[in-house]
Amino acid sequence: MSTFLDHIKSVLADIESDGLYKRERLMASPQGGRIEVVSSDETRRAINLCANNYLGLANHPDIVAAAKDGLDRFGFGMASVRFICGSQTLHRELEKAIAAYLQKDDAILFAACFDANGGVFEPLLGPEDAIISDALNHASIIDGIRLTKTKRYRYANGDMDELETRLKEADRDGARFKLIATDGVFSMDGHVAKLPEICELAGRYGALVMVDDCHATGHIGEKGMGTASLTGVGSRVDILTGTLGKSLGGAMGGYVAADQPVIDLLRQRARPYLFSNSLAPAVAAGSLKAIEIAIGADDRRAVLRSHSARFRAGLEAAGFELIPGETPIIPVMLHEAPVAQEMTRALDERGVYVSGFFYPVVPKGKARIRTQMSAALTEDDVTIAIDIFADAGKAIGLI
Ligand SMILES: *Cc1c(COP(=O)(O)O)cnc(C)c1O
Repeated sequence: MSTFLDHIKSVLADIESDGLYKRERLMASPQGGRIEVVSSDETRRAINLCANNYLGLANHPDIVAAAKDGLDRFGFGMASVRFICGSQTLHRELEKAIAAYLQKDDAILFAACFDANGGVFEPLLGPEDAIISDALNHASIIDGIRLTKTKRYRYANGDMDELETRLKEADRDGARFKLIATDGVFSMDGHVAKLPEICELAGRYGALVMVDDCHATGHIGEKGMGTASLTGVGSRVDILTGTLGKSLGGAMGGYVAADQPVIDLLRQRARPYLFSNSLAPAVAAGSLKAIEIAIGADDRRAVLRSHSARFRAGLEAAGFELIPGETPIIPVMLHEAPVAQEMTRALDERGVYVSGFFYPVVPKGKARIRTQMSAALTEDDVTIAIDIFADAGKAIGLI
């Protein structure tokens, strides 16, 4: 045991000496545009630029009230998986609301989108099939694919020529069914998948399309219906996965939305669905209200777009290197992890709360601060944040 623990300690020491050690900071307030951050023993206010709280619904009073009502009417916990005695009318209502919102036959809930992605592939595809996956896909898609016996093909991020080559390869290998899997918005870079090209290739080669819209549903596309709506491909996406843990209230839970037989089979066979607890009633009730609010939230989406454009322009004018894009994810490139950590600290001291991303979350040499806009931020918050970025960047000699 002591040699084992010595080994673990040396791995930790290596992470630390590479400047890759992640330390969690604590908050003493609800999630929002302004938060209270605990540092040593004092609590400071900060502008928050790193939540996935795009629509600013995480602490919306109507959602809090709906969750309380759910708690009162349906109790605290389910203490069961869905198929034994863990399905309340509330869970079905939420699944139907998700399906109606995303214009699919039906939806199935999971404890998280990590589980939805972990459980969606294995029941649907076998060893005679092919999954063709974008190299930048979220870890949960990669893990979900690993759990299948299906043949795997990978194409460089957004490289449509390579995708076509892989589709041909899968055909040559005799694939029965082919599925292209992609993030709708790539979470670390913030750009949108080339869905029109992907769907065109899928049509030409007879492949299915699966899109994980975690960083899109609620705030991107018409009524926040996501990247399929934004890019005009609509129902050509066969399988959608998403989360209740970002735009749609930010609590927790994930889902798959698709044709009825697909959802029916997932209910029979998806392992994270069969072997994991039902969503808590308060979370289901709050999420149901969040979807209702998101559908009607054109005002919040307009604020989010305006903040995103202004923040992006402000940082560019100050001399920062950004990854180009049109989503509320605005990555500021620092390249080396220690620089990202130094900048994070400099911003923290000045009252802007961000998070540095470095290996293994992004490739080595591509460390960054991923900023995210939120409708919970005010115009002033965005202006102040731009000024503080410029000040901190100068202080550490970056710009
Ligand atoms: C956040 C995220 C997930 C995981 O969602 P959870 O509901 O938090 O498990 C999956 N895929 C993508 C693309 C994500 O951004």
